[in-house]
Amino acid sequence: MTDPLRYIPARVRRQVLDANCAYCGGPFPTEVDHVIPVAQGGSGDLSNLAAACEPCNREKLDFTPAEWRAWRESEGLPWPPPGRIGYIREAVQQVLDSGVSPSDLAEAAAAYARRDAS
Ligand SMILES: [Zn+2]
Repeated sequence: MTDPLRYIPARVRRQVLDANCAYCGGPFPTEVDHVIPVAQGGSGDLSNLAAACEPCNREKLDFTPAEWRAWRESEGLPWPPPGRIGYIREAVQQVLDSGVSPSDLAEAAAAYARRDAS
């Protein structure tokens, strides 16, 4: 990390990440987000830092929370964002809806693993 405006010391990072995602509420966030983006004049002060999971941070980009929310709503997407747990839930539901049996899935996973090994 070379940009001093975006640099977050490890101690601060640990402190901020000791929380759920500030946006979707999901557990185990891995990223420290600048609530007001640095690109929009946000600071690196603790008061401008929030824990975010990867899907939330990736989508938030250089939006403020209000801009991000307005964008999601203009796209017909729900607020708050579903986050990682939401995407996992969606993926599990898709598998359930597809009617694929768990044993078929296990077999497919094993075949996939063999493909990597060879
Ligand atoms: Zn999140």
